[in-house]
Amino acid sequence: MASYNDKLIDSLATRIQLFLFWKSFDGEVIKAEEIEKYIDEIEKFEITNDLANLYSNTYYQTELNKGQKITLDENGNKKEISIVSICNNIPSKTKIKELFGSNLKKLKDNYASIFNENFKSAYDDLMKKKQCAYCGIHVDQIKALGENKKLNNKRSDTRGYTLEIDRKLPNLEYSKENCCMACYWCNNAKTDEFSPKEFKPITEGIRKAWNERLKEIGEAEIEYKSDEEFWEIDFNKK
Ligand SMILES: [Zn+2]
Repeated sequence: MASYNDKLIDSLATRIQLFLFWKSFDGEVIKAEEIEKYIDEIEKFEITNDLANLYSNTYYQTELNKGQKITLDENGNKKEISIVSICNNIPSKTKIKELFGSNLKKLKDNYASIFNENFKSAYDDLMKKKQCAYCGIHVDQIKALGENKKLNNKRSDTRGYTLEIDRKLPNLEYSKENCCMACYWCNNAKTDEFSPKEFKPITEGIRKAWNERLKEIGEAEIEYKSDEEFWEIDFNKK
C-alpha cells in the first residue's frame, strides 16, 4: 500500500501541475527550475472542480486534441490557449518529484505541514476502516476468500488483503472529504475515470459476485448500509 508520504508527494505534484496548467492561460511559461519562485501562489492556489475537470477531460485527452485550443471559463472570464503551448509547460510528476529533494524542498516542507493539518487525522481514521466504501466487503471476508482459494489476484504480495485509499473525485487532492477506503478490486475498476455516482451500479455487481463466492464457502453475505449522500458525489458537483 502506498504510504502516507507517497500521498503527500502525489498530492503536491498534482497541485503544482494544476497550478502550471492554470498559469498557462495567462501565457506564463514557468520552467520546472523556476517553480520555487511561485511557492506562495502555489500554496494559496484554489483548485476548482472546473479547472481539475478541464485538465483531465480536455488537456489530458492528448490523442484527440493535438493542435486544438482549450478554453478556461472563470466566472464568465474566458481565456483561450493552444494545447501545444501548455504541453511544453507542465513537467511530469517524476520531474516535479525530483525537485522536491532540491530547489522545491521548501515548498514540500511547507506543504507537508498543511497536508498534515488537513489530512493526517483523516488518514489515521481511514486506516481503521475494515470495509470497502464501494462494495462493502470486509477485510476478514477477503481473507476468508483467499484462504478458500476464491481469489485470483496475482498481485497479492502488495495489494488485495488490505484496503486502499481512494479519492472519490480523482482529480482533486487528498482530503478528509475526498477520500474513502476501497478494496483493491473496486479501486482498480474505478480507476481515475468514474465518480461515485457513476460507479454505484458497478459496485452492486461486484458485491453480488462477492456474495456468490462467500456463499460457496459458507460465509455470511456482505453487510452493507447505503449512504445516499456518498453516492451523489459526481464530477459536476461543486
Ligand atoms: Zn470493493
